[in-house]
Formats: sequence, structure tokens, C-alpha cells
Amino acid sequence: MDHTSHGTSEGQVKDPVCHMNVKVTDTTPRSTYGGQEYFFCAPGCKTTFDKDPAKYAG
Ligand SMILES: [Zn+2]
Repeated sequence: MDHTSHGTSEGQVKDPVCHMNVKVTDTTPRSTYGGQEYFFCAPGCKTTFDKDPAKYAG
């Protein structure tokens, strides 16, 4: 089954702060906001998100 065309593609997500593609692993920085999980390329982006999640969660 190919799920890559739409919806959630596992393994690769977009960092909501810097819009980089992020590969999700066990050590990927993440935050939960509004019942959704967000992943970040670096701890710094998570810190930025956590300061003002509404701005980035869209
Ligand atoms: Zn980032």
C-alpha cells in the first residue's frame, strides 16, 4: 500500500517553525499542542514553538 500521496506520511514531517522536512526518530524533539504532535529539526525550534505554539500550529 502506498500512503505517500496524501495524509500522514510516516517518518517525514515538516517542522512548523522553520518548515524544514524532519525525519522522525525516537530522539526527535517534539511537542504536543491542541491534541496534535509536532516535530522539530532541533531543540531550538521546539523552544521557539513552545514559547508561542498558537503562532506556529496554525
Ligand atoms: Zn527547525
